[in-house]
Amino acid sequence: MEVSSVQAEEPTLLCPFCDEPVSSSSPALLTMYHDLESQTWSDPLPDNPHHHSAKSFTVFALYCERHRFENQSLPVAIKNNWPMSIDFGKLFECVTSYCDDLEALIEEPEESEFFNRARRSFHSGSSKSTNINNFTEESTG
Ligand SMILES: [Zn+2]
Repeated sequence: MEVSSVQAEEPTLLCPFCDEPVSSSSPALLTMYHDLESQTWSDPLPDNPHHHSAKSFTVFALYCERHRFENQSLPVAIKNNWPMSIDFGKLFECVTSYCDDLEALIEEPEESEFFNRARRSFHSGSSKSTNINNFTEESTG
């Protein structure tokens, strides 16, 4: 696969590894692709003539994770003006600004959507279901 096809902004461009649509590529993604060239080989498919294969999906898993992030999550972050880097100097202040909310969640975890999701996922057959129930009962007194 030529690098120019990775850089194209055609919405129909397909990932050379997982064959999912790739709408754009960052310099980081291009660097990742170049690093994979020596570990993959051309293996054209009818629907993706630029398909490449590797001895294991683990070779290109991070590449695919990255293009999914760039195609799905990054546009949402940009649209919502989320910061693109973490200011560790302000991290403590940021966390402590949520102190009241965090204390409320500790006191009544059932009020947390995420706690309830986690509990439901543990209840759905996981051997860890006992652990989360014990956590709830023991930690609330
Ligand atoms: Zn992919």
